[in-house]
Amino acid sequence: MYTVTNPATGELVEQIPNATDEEVGAAITRVHNAFPAWRRRPATDRAKIVLRAAELFAERADELARIMTLEMGKRINEGRGEVGVVVEIFNYYGQHGPDLVADQPMSIRGGEAVIQKTPLGALLGVMPWNFPCYQVARFVAPNLVLGNTILLKHASICPRSALAIEQILHDAGVPEDVYVNTFASSRQVPGILADPRIQGVSLTGSEAAGISVAAEAGRNLKKAVLELGGSDPLIVLDSDDMDETVARTATARMRNCGQSCNAPKRMIVLADIYDEFVDKLAARVADYFKPGDPLDPDTKLPPLASTAARDEVAGQVAQAVEQGATLLAGGHAVEGPGAYLEATVLANVTPEMNAYYEEIFGPVVLVFRAETEEQAIEIANDSPFGLGASVWGTDPERMRRVAEQIESGMVYLNSAGGSQADLPFGGIKRSGMGRELGPAGIEEFMNQKSIRL
Ligand code: NAP
Repeated sequence: MYTVTNPATGELVEQIPNATDEEVGAAITRVHNAFPAWRRRPATDRAKIVLRAAELFAERADELARIMTLEMGKRINEGRGEVGVVVEIFNYYGQHGPDLVADQPMSIRGGEAVIQKTPLGALLGVMPWNFPCYQVARFVAPNLVLGNTILLKHASICPRSALAIEQILHDAGVPEDVYVNTFASSRQVPGILADPRIQGVSLTGSEAAGISVAAEAGRNLKKAVLELGGSDPLIVLDSDDMDETVARTATARMRNCGQSCNAPKRMIVLADIYDEFVDKLAARVADYFKPGDPLDPDTKLPPLASTAARDEVAGQVAQAVEQGATLLAGGHAVEGPGAYLEATVLANVTPEMNAYYEEIFGPVVLVFRAETEEQAIEIANDSPFGLGASVWGTDPERMRRVAEQIESGMVYLNSAGGSQADLPFGGIKRSGMGRELGPAGIEEFMNQKSIRL
């Protein structure tokens, strides 16, 4: 069942039954049959449609932001900001896509060749609830320009976002069978992947979902892109304005109520500034991030996406404290009907505690003290994840040196948790495989065919 429950109030808003197997089969038939005509259209035609979709996303930003707030509790201003990034992504692939998919001539030993860049066919997208529009955009915009067709299974708590996105794409001129939303359940995903008419899958979500989808894709020899969890390190080397550093790093962690894959979940601070940083961080987190109505633009801390998600994070915090971690701020569920959790800071988390290696998907910061730069890097890399990271300081060469030693797919200097259309996004280790965004993001489901002339 696809179920909308307002996380700010606990009110049940809507329920939509899952698609039957016959309906899922019919949806596969549609995207499969639509492929030949769609791929034959010039890339510049497809790009024009993608550019029109960018305009429609911009026009409907308020409506989309309200839907996301209702479904998963995002602050209304963050929802508008998310749609802004979606517009950037559609614009980026609309403008640059045709060049990125153009034939590439090559001089090779003894002659000439050309690399022809062609789409694969019908793809499955499986998307999460934390950024209901942005996650879909990263997968859909490049693949539409390339000429693939798409069957989209969104998270079961955001069916209204799923339908609003489908409507925008169809209104922009994407043929109805080229992009099809399905209310399939996650249990139906293996059957979709086994269907020979589906050529690949992109999943953004948890490690557990990634393992299941990767196994099924492997069994069927299908290409899979996996954008999974993270526990990004944020290293603070020094600061010439500690209040500013603390305010910006705390905001990066609390964005989207801490439910971002690439949020800086572990803050690693050099010993000489550790006490000052941590005192200020605990005060900032406790005083600034007060729970409130996500529709109120002044609210700083919205609810989590569901009470189940809130209870899971509260449980992780309680377990860490039981195992010996020090609670410096927050730590408790907020009484009342919504899925609220106090913004939380935990210190003295050691490798013996579950919280050290787990992803905590909520408004919780872990702080670590490092005696040296080398130890900071060691702590940063002591994680099963390798999505993003950030390094903060005043010396660009030193920050760069540290950045180069971090095991992750992305590192930002003096900013954290970001994403932009022209910069590849993705992780290593248990954070997944493959890249979205930038030039790399259009190559994942592309046949780069060598033609020896
Ligand atoms: P999730 O529970 O894994 O759900 C994501 C999507 O996968 C949903 O559509 C879900 O469907 C589906 N799904 C769940 N289990 C599945 C299975 N066994 N087989 C096939 N599909 C399955 O993840 P989430 O809780 O929505 O998202 C949070 C996680 O996503 C966090 O770990 C976060 O770090 C990660 N994430 C990563 C990135 C990135 O770019 N690396 C970005 C955003 C989020 P149902 O809703 O129907 O269960």
